[in-house]
Amino acid sequence: MTRSTGATPVPMPLWWRGEAVPLALPTAAAQESLPTQVDVLVVGGGYTGLAAARETAAAGRSTLVLDAESVGSGCSSRNGGQVAHSIKPTFSTLTKRHGALLAQRIHAEAAQAVAHLRHLATEEQLDCDWQPRGCFHGAHTAKHFDALVKKLGEPVPGLTPRISLVPRSEQGREIDTDFYHGGCIYHDDASIDPPRLMRALLARAQAQGARVVDRCAVTALRRTRNGFEVETSRGRVAARRVLLATNGYTGRLSAWHRRRVIPIGSYQIATERLGVERVRALIPQGRNISDTRRVVVYYRPSPDGERIVFGGRASLDERDPLVCVPRLRGMLCQIFPQLNGVAITHAWAGFVAYTFDTLPHLGQDEGLYYSMGYCGQGVPLAPYFGMRIGQQMADLPEGRTALDGLAFPARPYYFGNPWFLAASVFTYRILDSLGV
Ligand SMILES: Cc1cc2nc3c(=O)[nH]c(=O)nc-3n(C[C@H](O)[C@H](O)[C@H](O)COP(=O)(O)OP(=O)(O)OC[C@H]3O[C@@H](n4cnc5c(N)ncnc54)[C@H](O)[C@@H]3O)c2cc1C
Repeated sequence: MTRSTGATPVPMPLWWRGEAVPLALPTAAAQESLPTQVDVLVVGGGYTGLAAARETAAAGRSTLVLDAESVGSGCSSRNGGQVAHSIKPTFSTLTKRHGALLAQRIHAEAAQAVAHLRHLATEEQLDCDWQPRGCFHGAHTAKHFDALVKKLGEPVPGLTPRISLVPRSEQGREIDTDFYHGGCIYHDDASIDPPRLMRALLARAQAQGARVVDRCAVTALRRTRNGFEVETSRGRVAARRVLLATNGYTGRLSAWHRRRVIPIGSYQIATERLGVERVRALIPQGRNISDTRRVVVYYRPSPDGERIVFGGRASLDERDPLVCVPRLRGMLCQIFPQLNGVAITHAWAGFVAYTFDTLPHLGQDEGLYYSMGYCGQGVPLAPYFGMRIGQQMADLPEGRTALDGLAFPARPYYFGNPWFLAASVFTYRILDSLGV
């Protein structure tokens, strides 16, 4: 059995490899003054903002990306690196809401998002440690296995994802646990190294001439005759068009957007080095793992195959990630009792953005553009919809998406502080424990 060191975990993502920030831009760039005027100003330097900036710069628009912190220090360097088909509502739910044709187009768009990242990684050699190993999705009850069987029997028209069912009797070749009642394999899923993807998207944006500045918060946006006057912590910039690429970090800049995204903390831990053999014994195919519970958990071997990186919702309300370690470790050991006593070396968290219809949203209002609300699945969605909104900002027809024009719902009494979250998580936990 692995000894427990009892040492306090490092409060930063494993992927930051001990650096204080995921990416330090050259200090000379930070000292240069900001331009007084640009065609496009992007607020937020994560996957969305960088992907958008690449498109606007490539189309000849002068482009400035500003991030309040170091570039990528939001979700884009904190995530679990899992690449999955990422539209939460099922085809039948979307059909009820929007009709079968649009439901099909929305799911096709999500499949395109995964294909886009795959294309960048494999055809354009984007350096992001693309590992096309797929995902095992476990059923936490027999009833949920039956529901998976039913769901797989009703595929989205026109899509041909590679999925195979794994009965409980055969799940040992996927995962060394009795916790699940079988599951399925999503063969088209993959994993990436989060900050590597971010650095690669940064390099692509800069190669097209986008200027990226960190530690420069946008503090106010004012409409003018020609666009916007953008107030920043380092002075004013006039911008013809502005993109809000702030996802779960959407603050007070725009009350309209703040009422439409729900910031939710997602928490992760990394085990101490267990060794490649031991990790392979636990997850023999090296795939990502997720399961059917409402309170999401996701885990995978670390990129070097030496550890397990485990994530999920660890508390009712938002907490310091270090406080969440015992609960997350408990959730991990519930699945793998073999890991009882294992030491946790890293713990971290970030804010994902949910929406009230669990769809991502992109669009614009008189030059104020946005793309956000990826509901915890922005690894494929943010680079893709970032690209699309950038193309829209550059007036390119290829920027059109199936989600254009969808109403972006808000709720009465919600102004950006999710007061209902603790009650929702509590209810979901109970439903999960009852197996319904
Ligand atoms: C712990 C965790 C695990 C996750 N795991 C997965 C996963 O396995 N698979 C998956 O698909 N998705 C996952 N996600 C979600 C995914 O990482 C995000 O959806 C995606 O990175 C969003 O990218 P983004 O560029 O839109 O936002 P972010 O990367 O969050 O960037 C927003 C940026 O906006 C900046 N900003 C905010 N306000 C201002 C301002 N006023 N001025 C200037 N800058 C500002 C912030 O500093 C931040 O850098 C995970 C998220 C977390 C937190």
